[in-house]
Amino acid sequence: EASQIPQRVLFYKSFMSNGSADRILIEQELHKALANEEFYLDFQPQVNLKTGKIESVEALVRWRHPTRGFVSPELFIPIAEESGLIIPLGKWILETACSQANTWKEQGLPPMKVAVNLSIGQLFQQDLVYMVQEILQRTKLEPQYLQLEITESMTMNIDHITQLLHELKAIGIQIAVDDFGTGYSSLSYLKDFPIDCLKIDRAFVRNIQHNTNDEALVSMILSMAKHLRLKVVAEGIEEVEQLAFLINGDCDYIQGYLFSKPVSAEQIFNNFNELHNR
Ligand code: C2E
Ligand code: CA
Ligand code: CA
Ligand code: CA
Repeated sequence: EASQIPQRVLFYKSFMSNGSADRILIEQELHKALANEEFYLDFQPQVNLKTGKIESVEALVRWRHPTRGFVSPELFIPIAEESGLIIPLGKWILETACSQANTWKEQGLPPMKVAVNLSIGQLFQQDLVYMVQEILQRTKLEPQYLQLEITESMTMNIDHITQLLHELKAIGIQIAVDDFGTGYSSLSYLKDFPIDCLKIDRAFVRNIQHNTNDEALVSMILSMAKHLRLKVVAEGIEEVEQLAFLINGDCDYIQGYLFSKPVSAEQIFNNFNELHNR
């Protein structure tokens, strides 16, 4: 029984019941982790369903702790948020992802867009727009190859979000709404925000073959996105039946274990031709 509970859940449970002592420790360790280069990025391909090709990857941060081993971002990102470390960590993630995208290009891969998750703390960062611009210049990545992912709940908590997103769009980058449909927000922001892409959360896709309500919701999102001229990425695709449904519904991109787990930059490069020609 216990072996079926994912490791991260067990860790999370023990972490919560330990009260704050362990948490404070983790917070201290997080600060050292950046200087000690314990973070790295994995990348998960997003496959264009029309062409079958990888046109973009999502960067996902990883923390290899010297004694705890792998610590899930679902655990440490919230702590990084609360402690303010998300600002330097977020900058490192953005810079590393952009520089990697440029490295792949220099290695001869076709241009690939890299999607980078933003945290809410970064949206409050005064110099966010300047920082993005400066990183693009320094890493020599053309802006259209960077996509920033924000969530609905983040947008609800920021007053100046419309202006901020317009400023980011003005640089020439893309903006995606992550975990779409899980934020309990009204849909009205879709007409105000300069958004390029919706990412349908895995929660809706998971039971698509068995649940007619989920089917109806996903179909609705796909047709709405089409009318609004937004691209759609379906997340967490694990089964061919899910894939078939999405192809049928004219979804643009899929991302999920069925095609590839998040992998290292080297694996993206090494497997590119194989993956690309599948
Ligand atoms: P997210 O942005 O929604 O990222 C997608 C998560 O789903 C990733 O988990 C990915 O590994 C996982 N996933 C992808 N395909 C499948 C699938 O087919 N099945 C299942 N079961 N899972 C799949 P990961 O890497 O553990 O990240 C969890 C969350 O942590 C992310 O959710 C995001 O909210 C946060 N996160 C990860 N990396 C970063 C980062 O660089 N910056 C920030 N701010 N947050 C990050
Ligand atoms: Ca994401
Ligand atoms: Ca997501
Ligand atoms: Ca998520």
